[in-house]
Amino acid sequence: MEETQQCTLCKGPLDHVYAPMESWNMSGLLCSKCYSKKIAEHYPGTHERVNKSN
Ligand SMILES: [Zn+2]
Repeated sequence: MEETQQCTLCKGPLDHVYAPMESWNMSGLLCSKCYSKKIAEHYPGTHERVNKSN
């Protein structure tokens, strides 16, 4: 039997497995997309993109 892991947020397949941080009060695993989304939610500014707005 193959164990299929899915993202606890989007229920999609895990391309990479990320464990949520304790402070997020989540259980399960996150895909890279949801992980970076959560990072951006919880730590705005620490995940800056290169955005040429000036
Ligand atoms: Zn996901």
